[in-house]
Amino acid sequence: MSFQRILGQDQPKRIIQNALENNSVSHAYLFYGPESIGKKLTAVEFAKALNCEVSGPKDNCGNCPSCRKIDHAIHPDFFFLEPEKSSPAGRNAFIKVEQIRELQNKLAYLPYEAKTKVAVIDGAETMNPQAANTLLKTLEEPPSSTILILIASNPYQLLPTIVSRCQGVKFHLLASEAVRQILQQSLQPEPEEFSEKELNLRTLRSMGRISRALEEDIEATDIYREDILKLLEQASFRRMDVVFKWTRQWARRSDQIQPVLDELLNLLRDLAVIKSQGENAEILNRDILHRLHPLAEQKSARTLFAMFDSALKTKSALAANANLQLSLDHMLIQFCEAA
Ligand SMILES: [Zn+2]
Repeated sequence: MSFQRILGQDQPKRIIQNALENNSVSHAYLFYGPESIGKKLTAVEFAKALNCEVSGPKDNCGNCPSCRKIDHAIHPDFFFLEPEKSSPAGRNAFIKVEQIRELQNKLAYLPYEAKTKVAVIDGAETMNPQAANTLLKTLEEPPSSTILILIASNPYQLLPTIVSRCQGVKFHLLASEAVRQILQQSLQPEPEEFSEKELNLRTLRSMGRISRALEEDIEATDIYREDILKLLEQASFRRMDVVFKWTRQWARRSDQIQPVLDELLNLLRDLAVIKSQGENAEILNRDILHRLHPLAEQKSARTLFAMFDSALKTKSALAANANLQLSLDHMLIQFCEAA
């Protein structure tokens, strides 16, 4: 395997392969862009290309001892840091200053067997100021034969002094075709696991991210969608029975309300897209276009926007522990007012 296994990130690949070919690789990179689109994979292929014993300089063979050790994360000169929780029950994970110090100790020596040591710091934006300032010393005085690759979904959370010392490489959301190909590859050796219909649906709904395409619970999604469509079709001041039945039903299932609201936002988004751009636009729920079309006809763009806004505010309020039943009632009354 090689850079070829990275699908749909042509620009980042070009930047890296040009640097490899022209022997102009920087000391530090910042790979940034949304989660689950190939940043980590690219960092690993980059590390392999820098050290491959067979191919090069632009690519790697994937098969020599160096490539294999990096792939299995057992190469003595390849370091991979990711956020760690303070305790097993802890909620958030961080890159800790101890991890950075330990890395610095390892980078202080010449490579054991590699041409170039590579350190990848995934979730770099989770470094606290102490960890970031410690890393800054390494970026200011880079050890010889060493390349640092920082990976971040939210690069604006990094210290500007860190960002300015790295070469930025921007990664984009994946196009549908790339998502589909990656899904198909990931199903090997059991390609029958997803039906063609499910593969299409997962691709469409992935929004360009592989984790979303793979992990989504399609069965649950189907149930939520049907429930929300019925609500959108019927909710009005004349049918308050429907409205209150819906809120009662979901107020009892607080654990599922966030995915339900996400689904509601997806459907409202699709309706607005159909309204403004027509049916050929990128519609996440294309498989139920026959249900979405009449709804889009029935509602004005202003109504759809007001509903989307209300659903988004409800989602944030619930994430901040607002009362579930009251919040849902309030949202649906706003839906009726907008309709
Ligand atoms: Zn190799």
